[in-house]
Amino acid sequence: MFKNWLIDQDIYNYVLTVSLHEQEILCQLREETKKLKESAMLIPPEEGQLIALLIQLIGAKKTLEIGVFTGYSTLWTALALPQDGCLIACERNEQWTTIGKRYWEKAGVNHKIDLRLGEALQTLENLLENSHAETFDFIFIDADKENELEYYKKALQLLRPGGLIVIDNTLWSGLVINPTVQDPETTAIRMLNQKLYSDDRIQLSLLTFADGLTLVRKKL
Ligand code: CA
Repeated sequence: MFKNWLIDQDIYNYVLTVSLHEQEILCQLREETKKLKESAMLIPPEEGQLIALLIQLIGAKKTLEIGVFTGYSTLWTALALPQDGCLIACERNEQWTTIGKRYWEKAGVNHKIDLRLGEALQTLENLLENSHAETFDFIFIDADKENELEYYKKALQLLRPGGLIVIDNTLWSGLVINPTVQDPETTAIRMLNQKLYSDDRIQLSLLTFADGLTLVRKKL
């Protein structure tokens, strides 16, 4: 059974019953990921479906993912992209991406995915140095939280005007409003949320969805 801390279980079950269409291959990857001890990092299926919808709504072709884990969100993205679409996927843990790769291949979307193993900040820096600034239509940020503000700053440089950044876990199980919680991850998320609120280069919406999902559009 899926759970969401923001909403009542019955209404959540209902929402999934009447709205979720998760392909079998996605379901299989999710099931395999659930066996890992880090499985809580997996995004819920309705979030994958929203990402896919957003990608198609803006007609995204060139996308970037910061934090792949086992490639579940990656697979939703690649399936939503057109045949000539591409996704540059940043991850430092090769064991996790090895799992994802098997499913990307099985789903016939591996050719759209350009996996960059290593530190994401370095990958983003390389992209900026190699003329990728302002070329991405869509960017999903869901990696280590301590570096999130830096990921956001570079992502905004890489995003085209009118493009969309989606940031996961911006409510962090509600810890953001608990002043006694001062660990580096929670503090970094609070800082990012404040930064986004005062950033006049963007328009934003913080959705009370999944674990808090912030949509950022770069103004034209
Ligand atoms: Ca996440």
